[in-house]
Amino acid sequence: MKNIKDYNLDELKEEFKELGEKPYRAEQVYIWLYKDKVKEFDEMTNISKELRQKLKENFTLCNFKIVKKLESKDGTKKFLFDVLDGNMIETVLMEYHHGRTLCVSSQIGCKMGCKFCASTGIPFIRNLTAGEIVEQILAVEQEEKVKISNIVFMGIGEPFDNFENVINAISILNNPKGLNIGARHISISTSGIVPKIYELADKKIQCTLSISLHATNNKKRSEMMPVNNAYPIEELIKACKYYIEKTNKRISFEYALAKDNNDNLEDAKGLVKLLHGMLAHVNLIPINKIENGKFVKSTDNNIIRFRDYLNEHGIVATIRRELGSDIDAACGQLRRKTIEEKR
Ligand code: SAH
Repeated sequence: MKNIKDYNLDELKEEFKELGEKPYRAEQVYIWLYKDKVKEFDEMTNISKELRQKLKENFTLCNFKIVKKLESKDGTKKFLFDVLDGNMIETVLMEYHHGRTLCVSSQIGCKMGCKFCASTGIPFIRNLTAGEIVEQILAVEQEEKVKISNIVFMGIGEPFDNFENVINAISILNNPKGLNIGARHISISTSGIVPKIYELADKKIQCTLSISLHATNNKKRSEMMPVNNAYPIEELIKACKYYIEKTNKRISFEYALAKDNNDNLEDAKGLVKLLHGMLAHVNLIPINKIENGKFVKSTDNNIIRFRDYLNEHGIVATIRRELGSDIDAACGQLRRKTIEEKR
């Protein structure tokens, strides 16, 4: 059966037409789903019994089960969700002074194979559907009784490897009759799947694009991120320039600093050269330790020296706060869990 949360409002209206129902009914259902966050069709009290029956026969509501919830000493919360087919994913809720940000997963596992990231350690299973992406927000808002103001596609998976569902999820999130989260409050992070950068640019969606760069020459970047073999730095930067030109939006470049790997001044110089003149911002991430990972976090001195060098040479750089590392909820620490592990 189809998950009713997989449809954006226009698509749901079409579905309703096929069921012989008026389009405004779809709007009513949409409000029940996203404003009231009901878990059963029978809770939709202004919908006739007959229609509720029809909905039950044609759709599921896909309510994720929270298997585990961990809270960090910094207030960050990590949720382990059972996605109802035996698989599990993680989602992270962070509190900032400007609001609550949810870091959502887009796939069960990841194919990208970045050497410093735990999401890639266990084989890829499948893409999440649009509804399953949206469900992470619904489930957390309901559980925590909060409103989430920002979404980052920085959980498990490569969002551009599940492009269509991610874009559809964004259109569901955006709808004023639904969760009403503006595109400006949504960030997508990619390891650098170049053709999709062009596609996103042409769609002119107002979300923020983040690029996981992490190195400034192809040798080093390929060692860290195999995707660089398919889409080397020159092609990546060319696509980024196209994106900026098309959307007039600033790109955020993520750079995870690993000791004696990519954190010396030569690297900082390389970054200045690469991003010179671009509408860009650099987000420095002190690399988080993962099991069996060979990369070690840079020293505080090196991180600050790196940031200062960039800022002094015309590149705006900030250091990302390390949230949730005590519960393995920080960047790169999320991963698909197996059934055995949940126990
Ligand atoms: N697949 C997407 C989104 C995932 S992660 C991407 O690659 O962009 C979000 C960010 O965390 C990425 O920039 C990713 O490279 C970074 N990251 C992964 N592992 C990390 C680690 N161990 N320490 C710090 N950052 C990490």
